[in-house]
Parts: sequence; structure tokens; C-alpha cells
Amino acid sequence: MSDPGSRVLIVEDEAGIRRFLRATLAARGYSVQEASTGEEALQLVPAFRPDLILLDLGLPGISGKQVTSCLREWTQTPIIILSVQGDESAKIAALDAGADDYLTKPFGHGELLARIRAALRRVGHQDDGPLFVTGDLTVDLAGRAVRLGAEMVRLTPTEYALLKAFVVHANKLLTHRQLMREVWGGAHYEDTQHLLRVNISNLRRKLEADPARPQYIITEPGVGYRLRTEPRISAAPSSV
Ligand code: CA
Repeated sequence: MSDPGSRVLIVEDEAGIRRFLRATLAARGYSVQEASTGEEALQLVPAFRPDLILLDLGLPGISGKQVTSCLREWTQTPIIILSVQGDESAKIAALDAGADDYLTKPFGHGELLARIRAALRRVGHQDDGPLFVTGDLTVDLAGRAVRLGAEMVRLTPTEYALLKAFVVHANKLLTHRQLMREVWGGAHYEDTQHLLRVNISNLRRKLEADPARPQYIITEPGVGYRLRTEPRISAAPSSV
């Protein structure tokens, strides 16, 4: 799915950023369509059937968050939010509405392309078997077994539920709220936020070589966590 030829829809009202995105993606063989408003995007998606959507949050007319909610009623096409610094609450609302990831402007083309490849790879891997492997970590979803190298790791049911949520959404940024919903259902927000922190720290203690510098469960400050399964992304110098 990450092969050149994947279709990407760019939803962005600033012409300069649209040009940068189109040029970067077209040079890598992606097939690109553009929309400058959310309304236009919602009309284009059924016809263009993108493999991935780059969605600016701050649009004239309906917002990126509303576009995300509308799309998630009928399609799971990956959505990467483009936000500006200071747009934290809108960004988190869009992630809660079902967006997959975000990039904060300005970003370089290296980071953009890496995030796109990761999102497309997740879609391509949805049919994989229930054995999840990254680095030393193996999670057998059918057998509910977790190993680090050859060692079995004993997890509490809550820790396992949390790890399972990460594995099912590997590389995807999960907000605090999404994790609390997946693991604790509709329990009270304040209490579960504390439980989430404690369980994340327990999981890191059991899974990470150095829990203070985690390699698997990565904190996205103020937003949530992601299970990282690939090398660190290094942003290229050129930017929007
Ligand atoms: Ca904008």
C-alpha cells in the first residue's frame, strides 16, 4: 500500500502549502488530488477514493474535526491532521473523532513522507495474523501471551488490555481519552487518567530496557501515547 501510486487527498486552504504537499508527493509517485475546503473534500472522497487524507484543521467553512467525524461514519481511510502550534485542543478533538496521526506545521518533507508511509503500512497490515513482533517484543493476541526475547512477561489484565490497544493500533497515536475508552470503557475521566498513567509506567517497567527512555511506548506530550515499531523519524531540513 505504501507503493508509489497510492492516492492521497490534500485538504488545505493555503495555496502555498498545497503546492508544497503536491510537489513532494507527486515527486514520490503518489497520485494527488486537492481540496481547499472541507465541503469540497467530502464530495471528492467517494469519487477519488483516496488511500490517505492529509487534512488541515483550520479550514474556512466546516473544520477539519467535522470533516473527520463525517468521514468516520463510513470510511476508515487513514487521516493525518495538519495543525499549527497552539491548536492543541482542536488537534486532540480531531484525533478523538478518529484521525490517525498529526503533523504540526512547519514540518519537513522527510517527516511528512515517513508518516504517510507508516499510515499506509498500517492499513496494509490489517490482515496480518495475530502474532505481533517488533524488536524483542512479541505479542500473541490469540494466546494472550507476551514475550521479551525468550522471556515470558507477566502482565495484569489491565496492562494486557492496554498493550493490546497499542498493538491493534501499532504506530498510531492514541489519545488519553481513546486509551481510557478502550481499556476502562465509560469509567470516570479523572480517575482513569491516573490509572492510565500508573499502568503505562508499569508496562514500561516490564517491557522497556530503560523505562526512563522508552523505545516501545512513546509519550506524545499532552496528547497521548503511541507504540513505536520502527526507527525514529528524522525530519528533513526543508519545510513549509
Ligand atoms: Ca488552514
